[in-house]
Amino acid sequence: MLTFTHRTALVTGAGRGIGKAIAETLAKQGVTVICVSKSAESCGATAATIVAAGGKAKALAVDVADGAAIAKASEDLLKEFPTIDILVNNAGITRDGLLFRMSETDWNDVISTNLTSCFHWTKLIGRPMTRARWGRIVNLASVSGIMGNAGQANYSAAKAGMIGLTKTLAREFAGRSVTVNAVAPGFIKTDMTTEFVNNPEVSAKILEAVPLKRFGEAADIANITAYLCSEEAGYITGQVFSVDGGMAM
Ligand code: NAP
Repeated sequence: MLTFTHRTALVTGAGRGIGKAIAETLAKQGVTVICVSKSAESCGATAATIVAAGGKAKALAVDVADGAAIAKASEDLLKEFPTIDILVNNAGITRDGLLFRMSETDWNDVISTNLTSCFHWTKLIGRPMTRARWGRIVNLASVSGIMGNAGQANYSAAKAGMIGLTKTLAREFAGRSVTVNAVAPGFIKTDMTTEFVNNPEVSAKILEAVPLKRFGEAADIANITAYLCSEEAGYITGQVFSVDGGMAM
């Protein structure tokens, strides 16, 4: 067991995949989890699973690509929860394509959903955290943000941006005992990668670049994220943890 003393966490993209695994892992450790996703149905299902297992959770549908929606949601949440101690910026999308075929809409959608959302949530939820002089922020980056990936100019730019944001905010918040770290997954089996994982030719090609020769599980990412959010990880900040089967060695 990790140590969490009466902590509340907000996890974006908690409706499915990695975010769902993070929300459930934190809840098992006694953390109250605010599960955010785009659709009320998916975050509602995660919150219901947590509550059915004896945990504490609240579901909240927010489009994280909409800064005004984040501002309204944060204002309401901070009335209900005076401090939100843990923020996991996990919501993300891909809109892949080679640069010359990439539309400005696909560029902007990926940047606003994956990167600008972190700016908004951290500004709003991070302020009371710094006042409380305790906090944990974990940003879900990607191996694409470290190594680049042909066909993902928008996504790798967003993820590299999250890494820069992580390192800068780690420095800005360190004096208030708020840590900021990033986790950079490789290929993890979720809805985001089903198309590749279920195609034998494509998956064989991908696995050539993965030293451990298998895809990761959402739990692989949830476990390290929960650790980074715990009391035990209080001396770790500004770091990027690759969980990618050895891709970015
Ligand atoms: P996923 O299975 O596709 O789930 C994405 C989650 O994000 C869903 O709950 C979705 O909400 C939410 N979301 C998407 N757009 C949103 C928006 N505009 N507003 C609010 N919520 C939104 O993705 P995943 O594979 O778990 O990925 C989670 C994170 O890890 C992402 O940041 C991704 O870039 C990163 N990552 C994943 C992999 C991988 O291999 N899977 C690798 C590297 C990095 P709904 O449920 O309502 O649709």
